[in-house]
Formats: sequence, C-alpha cells, structure tokens
Amino acid sequence: MEFYITKKAWKKVIDYAQASYNKFSSEIGGFMIMKQDKEGDYILSEPEILKQTVTGGTTEMEKEEVADYYVKAAEKHGNDIRFVWWHSHANMKAFWSGTDTSTMEEYSGSDWAAFLVVNIKGEHKFSVKMWKPINVLEDVELNILGQTVPKSITDEVEKLCSKPEIQIHTTTRQYGRNQLALAGMGSGWSMQDQLEVQSYNDGYSGAYGLNNLYSDVENINPDELKILKEISDAIEELNDNYTEGTINYKKWISSVKSLNRNLKKDKVSFSIYEVTKNKLDNHVGNYTMYDAKNFVNYGGNNESNIKV
Ligand SMILES: [Zn+2]
Repeated sequence: MEFYITKKAWKKVIDYAQASYNKFSSEIGGFMIMKQDKEGDYILSEPEILKQTVTGGTTEMEKEEVADYYVKAAEKHGNDIRFVWWHSHANMKAFWSGTDTSTMEEYSGSDWAAFLVVNIKGEHKFSVKMWKPINVLEDVELNILGQTVPKSITDEVEKLCSKPEIQIHTTTRQYGRNQLALAGMGSGWSMQDQLEVQSYNDGYSGAYGLNNLYSDVENINPDELKILKEISDAIEELNDNYTEGTINYKKWISSVKSLNRNLKKDKVSFSIYEVTKNKLDNHVGNYTMYDAKNFVNYGGNNESNIKV
C-alpha cells in the first residue's frame, strides 16, 4: 500500500503555506481527501482551507466549519474516502510538535488516519497514526504524482551530460589484480574498451576498497566485479536514502533481503549483511564514514568461494 498526492494538490498545499506566511508570517492548515485506487494505493487530493485563526506556531479551525466540511466532502465524494489533516509550519521544520500529536488524537475514533505537515520550502513529513490494533505513529513515504520534467530540460541534460559506460566483457578467463586493464591486449578489444576497463578498475578499487578485496582473493573475474559493483551501488543508494530519512529501517532491511534472495537465485556467492538497526545506525549517518564494501559478505576469505 503506497501513498500518492497529485501534483496539483501538492502545489496547492505549498501555495497556501506560502500565502499565509506572506500575509501573516503564520502557519495554515486544512483538510484533503484520500481515496483508494484499484491497486489499493491511496491518492491524496483536493486540499482545502477552512475559516481559522493562525499564528506563528498554531492554527485552529472553527468546529462548525470542520463539521460542515465533512458533510460537504462526503456529499461530493461519497463515503468511501478518508480525510487527511494537513498544516504548514511556515518557514520552520516539518516535524510533529507536541500540539500536533495531541491534535492527532482527535481522530482516534477511527482505526487509523494520515497526517501531513509541510513548510514553505516544500519539505514535508507524512505519517500514519494507527490506534487499532496497536497505537503507533509511523512516517510513510508520500509520492508526488506526475512530476514530469519538461522536454527542453531533458534535452539539455542529454546534450550536455554523459556518464562513462562500464563495459566489462564476459569471458571465462580469470583476471588477477592488475591484469584486468591488460586483458584487452591482443584480444581484439578496442583502445576505448581498454580505457574503460582501466578506469573502471581504478575507480572501483578506489571507491569500494577493492584493493582490500584483492588481497583476500587472488582471482576475480569481470562478471563478479560487475555484480560487486551493482551490489555496492545498491547498498550506497539504500544507505543514502536511509540517512536522508526517505526510507526507514523496515524498508531498508526488506530491500536488502529481497536483493539477497535474487543473488541467491542467481547463485552469486556474495550477499549483503542483514545488519540490525543499531549496527546500521553506527555505520551510516553524517558523522561516520561508511564504506559500501563493509556491507558485502564475500562468502568467505579464499578464492575457492568465488565461483564463476
Ligand atoms: Zn504543527
């Protein structure tokens, strides 16, 4: 079950936040509706504001107006909808204040409810509060729908940017530590291929500490290298997302487990350590240097474990 907000609704919420900030240097809040689509995902749309008093730190909607809104929204959209209380924190951080979490309790009559807080910079926190069967408040990813990039921007990026293509040729030969770059000699590879392999080898050794790996493993073939690179990229991305808070530990560990299942299915001897949340917190984060390599389980220390 995923949560999405339409681009139009998202823009409207941020516009409301900006307008209240411009006019009153204040917060602002309102409701929007949430409807389940055929896939079972929830789509947030149609944000509205009601009559309210606003300050820098609070926003209070008038009770009669709220009751009125519920009735009108149900008339318009039917009863198969849920309401999302959203509000802005003006130019402050988007987080749940004590007042906010108390306000959430006003919705405890239902089994669960979703809440959104934003600021004028477009930062947000979206959380689902559940009362039954257990009381829990969890941050959830809110995807903005239809974030399409104008063609002119895509064209410009394509024209001016390039990414080095890594082309490791599949071969049955085993490559020792410094042989990878030389492997192309006399084998019909073009100079371009050789340079690519050379820079790949250099970059990879540097970035992912493969020098250390090579000290443990005598021979490694390009296919394995390529898989290692893919695993490291995946770890790097997951850890970045975790550090930035776009995914939580639950999502991190389930992604790692699913990667490991695929690796096992492909009979790859490497896997990713399924570390505990504590261990993960100690290895990633702003103040720790982490190396994606540390998350790779090479399946042992000697070359017999590295299978082609
Ligand atoms: Zn708040």
